[in-house]
Amino acid sequence: MTNAELIEVAEEFGTPTYIYDSNVMIKQYQNLHNAFKPLDVKLHYAIKALSNTNILRLLKQQGAGLDAVSIEEVQLGLRAGYSKEKIMYTPNCVSFSEIQAAVDLGVHINLDNLNMLEKFGNHYRDSVGVCVRINPHIMAGGNSNISVGHIDSKFGISIHQLRHVVRIAENYNMNIMGLHMHTGSDIIDADVFLRGADLLYHAAEYFPNLQFMDFGSGFKVGYKEGDMVTDVDKIGSKIVNSFKDFCKGYGRELELWFEPGKYIVSDCGKFLVETNVVKQTTSTVFVGVNSGQNHLLRPMFYKAYHQIDNISNPDGEKKLYSIVGNICESDTFGFDRLLNEVRERDFLSISNAGAYGFSMSNQYNSRLRPAEVLWHQGKAHLIRKREVLEDIYRNELQIDDLIEA
Ligand SMILES: *Cc1c(COP(=O)(O)O)cnc(C)c1O
Repeated sequence: MTNAELIEVAEEFGTPTYIYDSNVMIKQYQNLHNAFKPLDVKLHYAIKALSNTNILRLLKQQGAGLDAVSIEEVQLGLRAGYSKEKIMYTPNCVSFSEIQAAVDLGVHINLDNLNMLEKFGNHYRDSVGVCVRINPHIMAGGNSNISVGHIDSKFGISIHQLRHVVRIAENYNMNIMGLHMHTGSDIIDADVFLRGADLLYHAAEYFPNLQFMDFGSGFKVGYKEGDMVTDVDKIGSKIVNSFKDFCKGYGRELELWFEPGKYIVSDCGKFLVETNVVKQTTSTVFVGVNSGQNHLLRPMFYKAYHQIDNISNPDGEKKLYSIVGNICESDTFGFDRLLNEVRERDFLSISNAGAYGFSMSNQYNSRLRPAEVLWHQGKAHLIRKREVLEDIYRNELQIDDLIEA
């Protein structure tokens, strides 16, 4: 989208607003799908990255399935029109009753805990197929918040406990349909991915009824110039070769699944905010915008770098700013950034805001969550209204007989 188009959106719908470009999203989906040709990989889009129903439907048109991490996400996916076979439910630390609810809805179940696996086997025997989430303990990326394959991770069943998985599966005559790994969010090195894949190929020897292998996600996108990104074509061709060899040894063709979130929707999204104040202090010039960590948490939570541009003054002189929000908390979108001169009421655009932007937003400081707009076929469509004050107290109940109004 051009600056002029972004400004039009900001003026029409107000700020702060998330805007998603459907063309970029579709291109990313197709890039990833094509990277594994000639295999027809199944991409299960990770709902938690961006869960608006319109986005789910758009990806469904592309042939996507879904990765759901909660029963609510399963329900969102079904409501968006996905068939149950296209949904994989990968919970962590949920109750057995939630897993049973997912079984009742008929979606694929992925278990990441030996106790739950045994409970599941005891309850369902071979009547319901199940996938097992293995933690191969490979270290992906450097940020421990988003590396979930390491030794201390709460995710997955350790590859060292494979023998126990096999005993449970055999004792309860379970139908193990798939093996899964999701190693973390920042895979730069194809070899790391392949090491994990190799471990799963070996594990597969113990499970004769597999229908698929699910290698999760970890596809990294660039947030700024010079960032290391996942070379999906390189990973693709290496995985295709190793997977073909594996299938030959296994004796059957299995399906290959992935669960990309960020790769599909990060780049398509911009977060549009407006400058409230330009405030000079002894140490820096702060640009204070009409949003904060309640709307886009990644810079504060992960120290993630998001490119910020002044779209209202693209020819202004470059100056150094710290861009901060209006929340009473650590609330910095970007330290020491060079922006074209910022004036009050300028619109700023924050890039890579599609993934884990709106979906991690909240109402802290009793602020309203932003609107979401989809740029589709050359036009802007409002796909979620900005919240109103009532959304903040909607579920409160007043105990008027005890506390006077
Ligand atoms: C979050 C998650 C993903 C998606 O991760 P991205 O880094 O957004 O691609 C995939 N699978 C599982 C199980 C997840 O929890």
